[in-house]
Amino acid sequence: VKTDVLVIGGGLSGLSAALGAQRKGAQTVIVSAGMGVLYVSSGCIDLMAYPHGKDEMPVMSPLEAIGKMKKENPSHPYAKIGVKNLSRALDGFSKTCRRQGLAMFGDGSKNRLIPTALGTARPTGIVPASMVKGDLMDKSLMTIIGFEGLRDFFPRMVARELGENFAIGARVKVFDPSPFMKGSMINTVGLGRAFENLSFCEEFAGFINDNSNLDDRIGIPAVLGVDGAGVALKTLEEISGRSIFEIPMLPPSLPGKRIYQALKRELFEMGGQIINGCPVISVAKDGDRVVSVGYKAGGSLRSIEFKSCVAATGSFFSGGLRCGRKAITESIFNLPICGAPDTDNRFNPNFLAKEGHPVCKSGVMVDAAFRPCGKNEKAVFSNLFACGDLLGGFDSLSERSGGGVAISTGTISGESAGEAAQK
Ligand SMILES: Cc1cc2nc3c(=O)[nH]c(=O)nc-3n(C[C@H](O)[C@H](O)[C@H](O)COP(=O)(O)OP(=O)(O)OC[C@H]3O[C@@H](n4cnc5c(N)ncnc54)[C@H](O)[C@@H]3O)c2cc1C
Repeated sequence: VKTDVLVIGGGLSGLSAALGAQRKGAQTVIVSAGMGVLYVSSGCIDLMAYPHGKDEMPVMSPLEAIGKMKKENPSHPYAKIGVKNLSRALDGFSKTCRRQGLAMFGDGSKNRLIPTALGTARPTGIVPASMVKGDLMDKSLMTIIGFEGLRDFFPRMVARELGENFAIGARVKVFDPSPFMKGSMINTVGLGRAFENLSFCEEFAGFINDNSNLDDRIGIPAVLGVDGAGVALKTLEEISGRSIFEIPMLPPSLPGKRIYQALKRELFEMGGQIINGCPVISVAKDGDRVVSVGYKAGGSLRSIEFKSCVAATGSFFSGGLRCGRKAITESIFNLPICGAPDTDNRFNPNFLAKEGHPVCKSGVMVDAAFRPCGKNEKAVFSNLFACGDLLGGFDSLSERSGGGVAISTGTISGESAGEAAQK
């Protein structure tokens, strides 16, 4: 196989990179081992909540905090991207999602506080339309509805925590879906499929209407459809006359899957391709260029040639980085790593410490054009770019910045790879 641009990794940064390259007119292929973090994420795009990792309170204006990065934290990927490029990439992401039937709210000017399945708040910058009415900055009463038999969602706990920590009065109701599920499993996917059915939506809306003491705002776990929540949400709101919002669940995450599907559809419509379930295991070089990779496809080994390449293989979670006893390494090209702490200081003794673990800041070092480089800022390969969680100099988990870094560095590195492929 031959292509203009190869993107390795099919997570949020890889999909953003492929769209960026394809928009520049470059034929693009993604080769990916798996689905990436989107399938276990909340479906909200975190931009920046805790810029110092240990702040007591989240910042409420992510773009303002990101604007200070160049001065305060120059090795952060956002310091290289800049606010203008970030805003452009986020706007492109939201427009793509909307075109594919997935409305997203937010432009980076403010964080919303979205309730979680544990009754805590997620400070986050871009929120699916199906979650936006749950914003905890709004103190109006809510009713949390759970589903009989659905594990991992405890409406009473959610209501109690929201009351204690956010002074929001929340009542609880439980709906028994089993008579309408025709024997399918009562889990997020089973309920997601059920909500794609008009008669199930009507039964659920009928339950809301039969309980006349329910509040105007109703929170339910994020199960309003597998590929999209828009139709079920509209139907429920029209029949019940109430505002409905989804609460992100523990994995598997339907809102994360919806984003994956929307970006994938857009890429296919533009002529891009995805080869999934195939880990890249070897690289061929020619001088200062990478020219092809070998990947496992079932029992056989195949190769793909390209003009430029984007590494979007994620962090330790997805296998882009490896944490060995002696060193932290990048798993495909053996690229230089920055931000790696001494072996003895990799982990915080307090597992749940707000500031996270020092090891999480390690990752691939890049120049201003997002080409992997050494300490001398000289690019290791002239046609290789890197993006997303693979990058060093930031900790997406303690900062709550992962989605914004993935979309912006993915878009920019994909565009650069697309341009480089046409030279
Ligand atoms: C559990 C968890 C939940 C999170 N939830 C959120 C959230 O709700 N919101 C948010 O903004 N951020 C969240 N984050 C941060 C998240 O990591 C980033 O937002 C972002 O999704 C990372 O995208 P990525 O594409 O860089 O990496 P990943 O999503 O990790 O994707 C990496 C891809 O590379 C592939 N890959 C790896 N090695 C190879 C190889 N050798 N060959 C081929 N393919 C390979 C993987 O299979 C995968 O497809 C979460 C992180 C974790 C760990």
